[in-house]
Amino acid sequence: MAHCTVPEAEAILDREFPVLDKGFVRLVDYLGGDERIVQAARVSYGKGTKTLREDSALIDYLLRHRHTSPFEQVVLTFHIKMPIFVARQWVRHRTARLNEISGRYSVMKDDFYVPAAEDVSLQSSDNKQGRAAEAVSGGFASDVRESLAAGQRTAYAEYNALIEKDVARELARINLPLSLYTEMYWQMDLHNLFHFLGLRLDSHAQKEIRDYAAVILEITRAVAPLAAASFERHIKGGVTFSSEEMEALRALLDGTGHSLTGKPLERFEEKLRSGKQL
Ligand SMILES: Cc1cc2nc3c(=O)[nH]c(=O)nc-3n(C[C@H](O)[C@H](O)[C@H](O)COP(=O)(O)OP(=O)(O)OC[C@H]3O[C@@H](n4cnc5c(N)ncnc54)[C@H](O)[C@@H]3O)c2cc1C
Repeated sequence: MAHCTVPEAEAILDREFPVLDKGFVRLVDYLGGDERIVQAARVSYGKGTKTLREDSALIDYLLRHRHTSPFEQVVLTFHIKMPIFVARQWVRHRTARLNEISGRYSVMKDDFYVPAAEDVSLQSSDNKQGRAAEAVSGGFASDVRESLAAGQRTAYAEYNALIEKDVARELARINLPLSLYTEMYWQMDLHNLFHFLGLRLDSHAQKEIRDYAAVILEITRAVAPLAAASFERHIKGGVTFSSEEMEALRALLDGTGHSLTGKPLERFEEKLRSGKQL
């Protein structure tokens, strides 16, 4: 009843899961798994290990009722290679422990992100923070990709020229763009990882960080499959309703009228139809 080894997690340790054009996620290490969550929860009740079905029900109960501390007993450490603009969103999650490549210490590699043609989109007209759903033509996408790549080539050539003149690395790097890849070791406990995944798998998050979050979820499924399934059931696949929306739901069930009108009604109906948090 001490050290938890999870065969599915052992099998993927150190394997690089590719993300975007040059990025990856790698599980460096893990501490605990579903078994640890159950042990930690049962220590408070003084009960021992039970059947898999009971363990699964316990984990689901804990997650559903936000009894979150047993999930903090599980810790995952990742090695991630991501563009700097993704890293800027990533580091907003303050409960992680991380170490990043130092551009003051190392010469940065000539590794830049260029979106795939199908990911090139126009600005969304109804979402100031997002992309339009309509596809652009192949020629347009190719021009955008070339424009981004040309800027990257120029920026790197100038960086390289400064490095060759022995300009301090901490200064030579300052014009490098956000599309440059960086790398970090990133460690998070499972409770906070689920919070991160809830936000970064959501359709409101930028496509590129969503791609990373999807791989992190896949790896998390290997480490703690029962907890990951509960996360997918209650957080990723669930939506919350306001008190007014709950009133409208009850009224729908009872066949009586409710007071939702205008935008709040539209949002409520869309939430019911799409199953998405709006
Ligand atoms: C789609 C999307 C769009 C966004 N757009 C913007 C934007 O335009 N501009 C912008 O600046 N940010 C933006 N953010 C970042 C966002 O505001 C949060 O900073 C980020 O999602 C991290 O969330 P968090 O603070 O809950 O997570 P974490 O930092 O991981 O914290 C987890 C939880 O721990 C608690 N916690 C952690 N640290 C503290 C603390 N010091 N004090 C109190 N409680 C703490 C909080 O309860 C928090 O919810 C965006 C995020 C998303 C997902």
